[in-house]
Amino acid sequence: MKIIEVKNLSVKYRGIDALSNVTLGIDSGDYIGIVGPNGSGKTTFIRALLGLVPFGGEIYFQGKSFSDFFAGKHVGYLPQRMSFLDQSFPATAEEIVLSGVYCCKRFPKRLEKEDYAAAEKVMELLGITPLKERSIGRLSGGQQQRILLARALVHEPELLILDEPTVALDPQSSGAFYATVQRLNKEKGTTVLLVSHDIGSVGNYASKMLYLDRGLIFYGTFEEFCKSPKMTDYFGVGQHLICHRH
Ligand code: ADP
Ligand code: MG
Repeated sequence: MKIIEVKNLSVKYRGIDALSNVTLGIDSGDYIGIVGPNGSGKTTFIRALLGLVPFGGEIYFQGKSFSDFFAGKHVGYLPQRMSFLDQSFPATAEEIVLSGVYCCKRFPKRLEKEDYAAAEKVMELLGITPLKERSIGRLSGGQQQRILLARALVHEPELLILDEPTVALDPQSSGAFYATVQRLNKEKGTTVLLVSHDIGSVGNYASKMLYLDRGLIFYGTFEEFCKSPKMTDYFGVGQHLICHRH
């Protein structure tokens, strides 16, 4: 079953093509590693999927067009930059995580006992329970990132979209982060779209690699990617170091 189908997707900013003619399908349970140089349209691709930028072409979720698909309920999204997180806003880690449940509530949006239980469960999973009462602005970049991941996961989305999530993390936190995402993918069958320059890590986990550069350059397994001349164009000689380990 395809969770996402994209047909001839194009996005322009002020008349300039950021992406043209992207056509691809994503199977439910896939783990897609999205790579490409800076400015290649990776974030734009994700924003189009989420309906956050105007686009040409068609996007279907589980066979439905976007307007018929209540995205908030099915999608957990961790945006690229954390700058939107107001460091002086007086919210605790738990409150930030709990805000993730509002996507899926009907009016009047009241927090129920099961919402607190869901927040507790996901904070436990990500090892951030001790941070629960802490003020968000006083936490490190890595801690904040795990709290935002918890917020993206609290409503148990079928699709998880992560845009360069490990940029602000040290290697240890980054490893723990990838392990958590992989567990969700393997154990719960969560479909994952992950943008990352950390191709070594992505290659370890992803079922498919999507290489964008203002359009679709390559889409296939990591093994195929390693054999592809497109990979050499992107990585040059570093390719052998990355592919050799697999
Ligand atoms: P990536 O995530 O791969 O680094 P982006 O999708 O953010 O790339 O950007 C792709 C291109 O579109 C870049 O040239 C970028 O400058 C441009 N772009 C992105 N967002 C906007 C915007 N809101 N307005 C105008 N141009 C934009
Ligand atoms: Mg980006």
